Amino acid sequence: MIDESLEQFNKIAFEEDLINWYNTERRVLPWRMNQNPYRIWVSEIMLQQTRVDTVIPYFENFMKLFPTVEDLANANPQDVLKAWEGLGYYSRARNLQTAAKQVIDLYDGVIPAQPKLLSKLKGIGPYTKGAIMSIAYDKPEPAVDGNVMRVLARILNIDADIKQPKTRKIFEEIVREIISKTNPSAFNQGLMELGAIVCTPKQPMCLLCPVQSHCAAFAKGKVEELPVKSKAKKKKLEQHAVLLIFNDEGKILIEHRFKKGLLQNLWQYPMFETKKTELPELEEQFTNDYKIPVQITKKVGTLKHVFTHIIWELTVFTARTHVKQLPVEHMRFVEEDELAEFPFPVSHQNITKEHLHQE
Ligand code: SF4
Repeated sequence: MIDESLEQFNKIAFEEDLINWYNTERRVLPWRMNQNPYRIWVSEIMLQQTRVDTVIPYFENFMKLFPTVEDLANANPQDVLKAWEGLGYYSRARNLQTAAKQVIDLYDGVIPAQPKLLSKLKGIGPYTKGAIMSIAYDKPEPAVDGNVMRVLARILNIDADIKQPKTRKIFEEIVREIISKTNPSAFNQGLMELGAIVCTPKQPMCLLCPVQSHCAAFAKGKVEELPVKSKAKKKKLEQHAVLLIFNDEGKILIEHRFKKGLLQNLWQYPMFETKKTELPELEEQFTNDYKIPVQITKKVGTLKHVFTHIIWELTVFTARTHVKQLPVEHMRFVEEDELAEFPFPVSHQNITKEHLHQE
């Protein structure tokens, strides 16, 4: 398939057109200031599943707080999560800090320039490895994500299903074939930039495209059909009750998500999965699960939050408790103005904004 796709393809002219366009039209972004591998690594992790506009202020703040890999390795993990608060996919932040510690312990604080060593670091998959190798270290390594697969599927008329994990390998092989050996950094970034601002998923701007003359999908009128992408699995729906529980001093109860899994190490209002809606039944379930007696006063709202594989439907209640001593270590009462010190997931930040004062 690769040989067929590349048969008519003029690699040299494509490389030239792509890199010329990238060098003149690329957006000014804070991580493009230099080739510092730490900055490039952090930016690539932040950019996974997240838009550039959203990432910019997070990236700048992160670099102020943790300007070097050493600063990140030595930081308080709660401060790292706080700096990531709202960006989502929090395992990225936890892995980044673990990997920063690995860089200090294993490689004397130097981010390795060898693909094998780089891929041993926590959270560095084939894409991030390729991005760091090419952008920071000028090595002709493929950096293939969904964007790059879309662009190349169109340019080379490749109909492999890009939702299948094995398809990435096909595109990696192609990039190894066509990547610029003299400027792999601009080549890979050019492909990424093209996917971000010209060859977009919907309504690509073919008429303004710098590589239109190389594009098989454009020539054959197949732009709308490519890439082939099988339908995503249906997301699992989970219904949870969230309790805003105040004690006799007016403090509010929060809980640390210490268990492994989704949103690990973030804080939240106590929350439990349930389909029940009657207040006495909810009180009973909460008291059984948490060993804290509460009186639920009323329902104050509902909220939906969509993750990659799960949808949370949250029903928020206010409640009171008279307990003085909490039976578990991962929960605590805090003043409302202390809430901002704890990293919360977006859904619970929204609860603070919308429902905390509806008692
Ligand atoms: Fe994408 Fe259109 Fe350019 Fe082809 S011509 S690479 S489909 S924007």
